[in-house]
Parts: sequence; structure tokens; C-alpha cells
Amino acid sequence: MSAAAIARLLGRTVAVTLVESDAIGTVGVGEATIPTIRDFNRLLGIDEEAFVGKTQGSFKLGIEFVDWLRPGHRYIHPFGTLGRDTQTIRFSQLWLKLVQEKADAAEDALGAYSASAIAARLGRFGRPEANPNHPLSTLSYAFHFDAGLYARYLRTWSEARGVGRVEGRIVAVDRGGESGFVRGVRLEDGSTISGDLFLDCSGFRSLLLGETMGEPFVDWSHWLPCDRAIALPCASAGDLLPYTRSTADAAGWRWRIPLQHRTGNGYVYSSAHLGDDEAHRRLFDTLDGAPQGEPRQLRFRAGHRRNLWSGNVIGIGLAGGFLEPLESTSIHLIQTAISRLMLLFPDKSCAGPERVEFNRQSVLEYAQIRDFLILHYKATERRDTEFWQQCAAMTLPDSLRHKIDLFRSKGRLFRFQEELFSEDSWLAVLIGQGIMPAGHDAVADTLSAAELRAQMTGLRQALHRAVEALPRHADFIARCCAAPRSAVS
Ligand SMILES: Cc1cc2nc3c(=O)[nH]c(=O)nc-3n(C[C@H](O)[C@H](O)[C@H](O)COP(=O)(O)OP(=O)(O)OC[C@H]3O[C@@H](n4cnc5c(N)ncnc54)[C@H](O)[C@@H]3O)c2cc1C
Repeated sequence: MSAAAIARLLGRTVAVTLVESDAIGTVGVGEATIPTIRDFNRLLGIDEEAFVGKTQGSFKLGIEFVDWLRPGHRYIHPFGTLGRDTQTIRFSQLWLKLVQEKADAAEDALGAYSASAIAARLGRFGRPEANPNHPLSTLSYAFHFDAGLYARYLRTWSEARGVGRVEGRIVAVDRGGESGFVRGVRLEDGSTISGDLFLDCSGFRSLLLGETMGEPFVDWSHWLPCDRAIALPCASAGDLLPYTRSTADAAGWRWRIPLQHRTGNGYVYSSAHLGDDEAHRRLFDTLDGAPQGEPRQLRFRAGHRRNLWSGNVIGIGLAGGFLEPLESTSIHLIQTAISRLMLLFPDKSCAGPERVEFNRQSVLEYAQIRDFLILHYKATERRDTEFWQQCAAMTLPDSLRHKIDLFRSKGRLFRFQEELFSEDSWLAVLIGQGIMPAGHDAVADTLSAAELRAQMTGLRQALHRAVEALPRHADFIARCCAAPRSAVS
């Protein structure tokens, strides 16, 4: 992704050499994305339908969270916007007033006001309408794809635009005496690749940023205790669902990601609370198709390198940090690191204030996403295992505590400093995880109960009608972006 973006934006003003090792390979997971990936693909000029076909992809309208609040409960965190604001009143306040004044709020569940959530429930898919007055203008989507195929796709794309790729394992790193800057990397065959700026995309090992530059790791595992995952794909079964499913379990959660040629599955768990064999069994027993290949075990820690840019080294992807995959944010973090680098591209000295600003923005972004993830673990009624009891007892970061307190009072939400997750995302997860504000904003009372009811019923019905007219997700894919037959194994 980095090589492709640099080739696209800086063209031949910068010579890019990508070093990677087939013997080491990639982490090999990461199949669910969020809507910002579409901006990245658009930047590269990638044809969306060809891309979905070539990566065995499917469309994602959000994430269904099952058993997170309590066993048997489910809700969707949808992409896109919820309801419609009036000129003076936010939709969230209208909805709060509605449900707070009504005994039976079942038909007014938040998801009934989201085009993406309704489409997910009905197994339908279509692209958003451009006309802002159309109910489907509020829908948004991302993709599920085979990350290995996406990387291969981007490699071909980049090589065609002048990126040089070197196959080989880096065994040593040369640094300049006084500055300590990295001057070159030495490969197993004895060759050296020198450069002015090094993007460390070496994965969890963090070869340049962590090992060479010695940037310490800021550990957040006391807030995000899951530190292992087992991934095991299985044969597709049932409808091709247009959403990711996350199911809470004894010591973590399981993911289910539907692709065209298979279903991706995994169990993310805390090794302090669950053994690997038991995690494997819990994953295996819940597969809805025949397993494909051997399970893969991954170890990680939640957190980030203190500075993501040190000297002339910038950590991108897992080399910079990792927040577990609950909200599919890692590929997005790669993308924002790249765009931040493009906006702050240094000269050869790397001595300007750009590095400081890059680090400031990166750390803030990590912390904001961290808070959103913690919310899922903390705000739950689950106390059935030691893992969930520990989550319930944890002390929150002040930033999250403040956000929850503000919401609990009158449902007020604010988005700070280009935060990734919108007020609607926070609303969906706060409500989904069982936090209902005590009141609502007085401004919502400017509408009478009858006016409000008529307005909200009309909105719900219009959304439902518009979504019902969309094709089924599987039919949309078959018509527009089916994978080439030879690629389906
Ligand atoms: C369990 C799990 C689930 C995930 N799910 C999602 C998800 O749903 N959505 C999402 O957005 N993200 C997800 N992620 C994160 C996602 O997988 C990564 O962000 C993404 O794959 C990018 O990884 P990377 O390129 O940083 O590292 P890697 O994929 O590990 O790539 C590292 C590269 O560096 C090369 N390399 C390493 N050492 C050397 C060396 N010595 N010499 C030469 N080359 C070297 C390797 O060959 C490889 O090409 C998940 C991660 C985990 C652990």
C-alpha cells in the first residue's frame, strides 16, 4: 500500500525499492475493512468491480455484534449515517426522545434508522445514491477481501508504475554514526540497499523502528487484554452475508468474514484466561463449513511504538503498532499513516517539525481507536467468566470515561480532531452495549410527540422501502464482480 501510494502521488520524483521476503511471508490475516479503503482505491484509480472480483471480495455494510451485551443479544454497528438530523436537532436526540417516551421501543431500534443496517439484515446490497435526499444516500460500505490477493494486486499495480521489488531477507542494518539514521539494509545474499527514508513495514517484528532505532513499545494490554488469535478459514455455507460477524465468547471473541471462495474465521482471546487448545476447540466447534487447511496461531500485544517516526524511519502497519481487529482498523491505520506521510513528506535531513507532527497525529489516532475498542469490552452485562469480570472491573482511560459520562447524561457526543469513528458509530456501539442516557437535549422537545412520531415513522418506512428494492448481495456480486472462475478453488 505504501509503495503504491508513493508511486501514485510522488511519481518518479522518488525512487521506491520494496524489500520483502517470501520465506518470511506476511501475517496472512486482515480480511475486513472500513469504508475509507474506498478512498485509497480511488486514489490509485482502481476499478472497484475488477478489484472485488480479483480479491475474492464481498461487500461489508458493518459489523454484527453477537452476545456482546449478554448472551442472546445482537446489534449492528453499521457504516453510513443514522437517521436524519433536522435543521436544528441531531438525529440522536430525536431518537432518544422517542425511545425515552415510549414503553415498547422494539420497532424503534436504532438499526431501523440505518440503511446499511437494514440492508445487512435483509442480505441486500447496493451502492449509495448520490442525491442527498434519497434514503440510500446514507448507506456506506467497505469490503471483505483476501488480503494476500490484495497485496498481490497492489504489487502488480506498483511494479507497473516504477516500484522496484527486491526479494530477500534483511539480515543487518547499517546506521550513520552521528545521526544514527539508517543508511542501508543488508540482505542475505550480501547486497545492500541504501536509501534516504526507510518505511518499516516488517510487521510485528518492527525490524527498523523497534529493533534498530530502539523505539519502546507503549503497551495497552491492561485495557485490551486479548493477545492471541487462531485463524481458520472454512468452506462457504449459507447466504453470502454483506457484513462481518463478531461473536463474544468466554475469553474474547470470534470473527466470521464471508468471502466469495471461503469464509474467514478466527478467535481472538486472552492467553491469561484461555488455553490455545481450548480456543482452537471453541473456534472449530462453531465453524459453519468444512475447515480449510491448518489453523494458524498469532501472538500480539495491543499498543504502539512510542514514536512512529524516529530519525529517518517510519513504522507503517504492524511495525508501528496494533490494536486488535475488533473494528477492522489496522488496514485503515496503514492508509492514514501513508496519507500523513504524504502531507508531511520530509527533505533528506528529516530534521524539520514534520516528524513531531506526524508522531502527534499518529499517537492521537491510536488512542482514539483504542478508546472505541475498550468500550466494547467495558460496557457489557457479561460477568460469566473471569475474563469478562476483569473487563468490567478495569479502570478506563480519562478520555473514554469523559465520553461515556457525557453520553450517559443527555446522549451528547462530539467528534474531536478528525477522529475516525463518527458520532453515529459511537451512538451505535454505546446503545448496542447497553448504555442508555438518562435524558435528552432540551432542543428535541421543540417537536411535539405527535410530530416526532410521524417524522420517525416516515423515515423508517422510507429507508425500509428503498432497501427492499436493492438486489440480494450474492446476486449483486454475481452480476458485477464475481471472481474469475479459475481463481475459485
Ligand atoms: C488476528 C489478526 C486479525 C486481523 N484482522 C484484520 C482485519 O480484519 N482488518 C484489518 O484492517 N486488519 C486486520 N489485521 C491487521 C492486518 O493483518 C495487518 O495490518 C496487515 O496485514 C498489514 O500487515 P503488515 O504489512 O504490517 O505486516 P506483515 O503482513 O507481517 O508483513 C511484513 C512484511 O515484511 C517482510 N519482512 C519482515 N521481516 C523481513 C526481513 N527480515 N527481511 C525482508 N522482509 C521482511 C515480510 O516478508 C512481509 O512482506 C489483523 C491482524 C491480526 C493479527
